[in-house]
Amino acid sequence: MRRSTLSARLGTETAFEVLSRARQLEAQGRHVLHLEIGEPDFPTPRHIQEAAIRALEEGYTRYTPAAGLPELREAIARSVSRTRGIPVDPEEVVVTPGAKPILAFGILALVDPGDEVIYPDPGFPIYESVIRWAGGHPVPLALREENGFRVDPEVLRRLVTPRTRLLILNSPHNPCGSVLEQADLSAIAEICLEHDLFVLSDEIYSRIRYDGAHHSIASLPGMRERTLLLDGFSKTYAMTGWRLGYGVMPKPLAEAVTRFVVNVHSCAPAMVQRAGLAALEGPQEAVDRMVAEFRRRRDVVVTALNAMEGIRCVVPSGAFYAFPNVSALDPEGDRFAAYLLEETGVAVLSGTAFGPGGRGYLRLSYAAPLPQLEEALRRVEEAARTFRL
Ligand code: PLP
Repeated sequence: MRRSTLSARLGTETAFEVLSRARQLEAQGRHVLHLEIGEPDFPTPRHIQEAAIRALEEGYTRYTPAAGLPELREAIARSVSRTRGIPVDPEEVVVTPGAKPILAFGILALVDPGDEVIYPDPGFPIYESVIRWAGGHPVPLALREENGFRVDPEVLRRLVTPRTRLLILNSPHNPCGSVLEQADLSAIAEICLEHDLFVLSDEIYSRIRYDGAHHSIASLPGMRERTLLLDGFSKTYAMTGWRLGYGVMPKPLAEAVTRFVVNVHSCAPAMVQRAGLAALEGPQEAVDRMVAEFRRRRDVVVTALNAMEGIRCVVPSGAFYAFPNVSALDPEGDRFAAYLLEETGVAVLSGTAFGPGGRGYLRLSYAAPLPQLEEALRRVEEAARTFRL
């Protein structure tokens, strides 16, 4: 069958492939520990579930306005305004099923064929996929372990050309767990202002930070009007399966993104939007507890990895991923990752799932209960001793 060139340009996320291989092994009776998928292992807080049930009973079963229920857009505007210290008009908010559509529609609304887009490498694989889909030219921005996997503004500056349209930032970062501090963002903002760059700031892990507050480039002078800020409910409120996210962007861009919404999915599910409202306006203790637990696990995981022969791991400051360097065992990382799954039953992702910059690394998600992580670490330690290329 003949497929369109447009469909052939789309990439994918290896995490789902590894998950399906892990499930196959489980079906054969193998015991697999899942450190591959990026989703909190906690239940969605009860009051959010109850809000969705109430919404169903109250008749929130129909289409909503494409950009979202007015009360949810208002709550998001208040929340982003408070957390980023900037004024936000509800009309600048677009609600989507998960945050991923904001990435796709945002890039499609901003990038013309031939435009260059700078994105982090290693980084979330969907960035490169959608840049190519839009006909843009992806320009990887190397994040280096020596620099704590933060953006080096001088490296960024050297990548900018007259064709550069968009810069994608992700802090806290998937897969490295690095965060951009105020000084990093100021230096990056200076380059954006100097070269008239637009920024897609992926802040989906904004609430999962271990030391210090989250900073957004949108908060810096002159940046709000050139930033599409992406955030959502999946990670913060353990709501990955509900599919609810949003973008905050200048009104003309919000109109363009909403047009994609109208053409593709009409609106996010009404009862899920009501649940999102309860998430933003209700008690936040569950989020704090979850982040405290992630921090405890991070310390266990990173300490254990650093004690292993041939492995070293930078301490992540946010998100729930460890990104250990295993290049002494396997310069690529792919074969060690496959060995971990096939021989020891630990599902992880090879760093190469996040671009060439991930060569020689693994991504371990520590969104799993501590006893499972401890068992996984024991198996990884043994594998590091027995693995031969
Ligand atoms: N951005 C990053 C960096 C992510 O890791 C993810 C999810 O894994 C997303 C965006 C998409 O989030 P959602 O599940 O809300 O679509």
